[in-house]
Amino acid sequence: MMASAPSNQIPLMTSSTGRSPDGCAFHKRCPYATERCAKEVPALRQVSTRQVACHYAEQ
Ligand code: SF4
Repeated sequence: MMASAPSNQIPLMTSSTGRSPDGCAFHKRCPYATERCAKEVPALRQVSTRQVACHYAEQ
């Protein structure tokens, strides 16, 4: 029997090549996505009282 992996070790999305996609995981369906979103993974950071991972969280 295979043990289940902890959820913090499961990648959010993978491409057909098996590697994580470039950029933000939501860039293909986010209405606010820009070219930057497709190329650069947003860092998790504190904005006000929340942790966010979006290049444009302040806007
Ligand atoms: S970084 Fe923010 S704006 Fe860009 S695709 Fe992700 S959620 Fe949307």
